[in-house]
Amino acid sequence: MPIWVQKFGGTSLSTKEARAHAIKHVKHAVERNVQPVVVVSAMGRRGEPYATDTLLDWIASNGNRPTPRETDLLLACGEIVSAVTFASLLNERGIPAAALTGGQAGILTDGHHGDARILHVHPARILELMDEGKVAVVAGFQGQTASGEVTTLGRGGSDTTATALGAALGAEFVDIFTDVEGVLTADPRVVREAKRIQRIDYHEICNMAYNGAKVIHPRAVEIAMQANIPLRIRSTFAPVEDEGTLVSREPFPDAGGRIRDRYVTGIAHAEHLCQIQIPIAGNSYELQLKVFKAMAAHGISVDFINVNPSGIMYTVHDRDRPLAMRTLERLGCGARCVPDCSKVAVIGGGINGVPGIMSRVVEALTEENIPILQTADSHTTIWVLVAGKDAAAAVRALHRTFHLHESI
Ligand code: ADP
Ligand code: MG
Repeated sequence: MPIWVQKFGGTSLSTKEARAHAIKHVKHAVERNVQPVVVVSAMGRRGEPYATDTLLDWIASNGNRPTPRETDLLLACGEIVSAVTFASLLNERGIPAAALTGGQAGILTDGHHGDARILHVHPARILELMDEGKVAVVAGFQGQTASGEVTTLGRGGSDTTATALGAALGAEFVDIFTDVEGVLTADPRVVREAKRIQRIDYHEICNMAYNGAKVIHPRAVEIAMQANIPLRIRSTFAPVEDEGTLVSREPFPDAGGRIRDRYVTGIAHAEHLCQIQIPIAGNSYELQLKVFKAMAAHGISVDFINVNPSGIMYTVHDRDRPLAMRTLERLGCGARCVPDCSKVAVIGGGINGVPGIMSRVVEALTEENIPILQTADSHTTIWVLVAGKDAAAAVRALHRTFHLHESI
């Protein structure tokens, strides 16, 4: 019997009505003689009782400072509550089901609390439940170390649980059910006319996710890609026939089977970056080395690096800004910083070597009077750094200039 892993995100579980929609998809799989394995996130978003952010706020507001180990133990409760709720709803509707913690489902991780990495998946309990004719409802975002400690997988961790289980079980599909109709050409909160992308390959979606499109976690895509398991990113609230965006290894034939000439796929953006500028006078090699060694020594991750004879520029996350600036002050190199920048990415597997793309990017931003602070490019992406206040307008301008509202 083919297996479908069906992952439901927080907003897909937060109300009774949403849960009814989620159950409709499990029922559909059962009726098609498919074995579903369900993965659930914590219910709702910040403010709702068991959402991950609510649990975090709760600890902070009490002035408690639990260790990372205890924090993980608390955070894991959100998904457990969700799994128990969902399993009992399935049972009530005549679909035999049992809830499992991540550890019980065989998600074995390293001991890096708060951001653990999955090492192995031993889905023996899930297979046992299947033999008993039951649907396993697995608490996402969590695992267990070899010594039995509960760990959590970091933001988007339930996506990773889903694809790791899909890979271990040889699933036919991993379905990521969420509150939008699929992968869109830009974040719909920024670009209202963003269009659904029908098919996308692993590399492109990974690229969008790494550049801020949070519809799926990039690590989850990597796991699916390694195992070559197709993903469908789709809306919980849509009819069961509406399969959302298909993510697979194949290119993107159009309805007639031809490979379409699609060079820009989507626009993504990431916020809260700080640009650091360091002028260089005279012999620069020593200073360059000192700067990057100092960043590494303090565990500060650097991006958007540009080194040239007159200076060094790079970005760090805004949260690392105080530490980065203190470190640079100690080096006495006259560093300046521009806080609250956003990185806007134009993404497309086909942009390599197509003439005129960069000029369209510059033209679109210039027309909107958006200053470009820095650019970089690879064979699949053009990045532009802009002030945070200009980010939404920049995303919209680039979306328009590449006619993405017309894409299929
Ligand atoms: P879930 O709780 O289901 O995991 P997330 O909030 O993690 O949901 O991801 C879904 C959200 O991702 C959407 O509501 C949307 O605002 C956002 N998003 C950002 N970029 C994109 C994009 N390119 N396509 C689709 N959604 C996107
Ligand atoms: Mg998510």
